[in-house]
Amino acid sequence: MVAAPLLATGFRYCPACATALALLSEAEDGGAKERLRCPACGFTHWNNPTPVLAAVVELDGRVLLARNAAWQTRMFGLITGFMEAGETPEEGIRREIAEETSLEVSALRLLGVHAFQRMNQVLITYHAVAHGTVKLSPELVEYKLLAPGQVKCWPAGTGLALADWLRSRGVEPVFMDMPAPEPEPGPDGRTT
Ligand SMILES: [Zn+2]
Repeated sequence: MVAAPLLATGFRYCPACATALALLSEAEDGGAKERLRCPACGFTHWNNPTPVLAAVVELDGRVLLARNAAWQTRMFGLITGFMEAGETPEEGIRREIAEETSLEVSALRLLGVHAFQRMNQVLITYHAVAHGTVKLSPELVEYKLLAPGQVKCWPAGTGLALADWLRSRGVEPVFMDMPAPEPEPGPDGRTT
């Protein structure tokens, strides 16, 4: 079992009654697990992975990769964002693509679902055929449009989904010797 980043989430107090949370072990079907629980009211911080949506955006036969303003290195990645309450994954990725690039999606297909354990996230990656003129949100500073044969994949998370899509196009993916792009900061300091 891979240890989830249990205490890295920043939770110290019960969101229901403000008592300090305690680290408790409990036996479950999958074996003993450690959880943060409130000794006063029983609230449990389950620390389930957060769903993150991602898209290989195809515009006029080329792949759009974008660089986040918060990334330290000059890395380009897929369009990503958090799934929001009240939307389906498909609605969520259409919304993210519209917000981040101003493009409209005409076809959407699931590429894969990958764990991203370092960030305690689950990545749901789509291929999106998009139309329109690219206009980046302030979150993104730069983008590239690459022919599938020019794309280099990163060996984790969304990079694996991108590699699967390239193979489906008959392109053998080339991987870079670099870590995955740094996560994207969310509106409340969370990251994708
Ligand atoms: Zn409590």
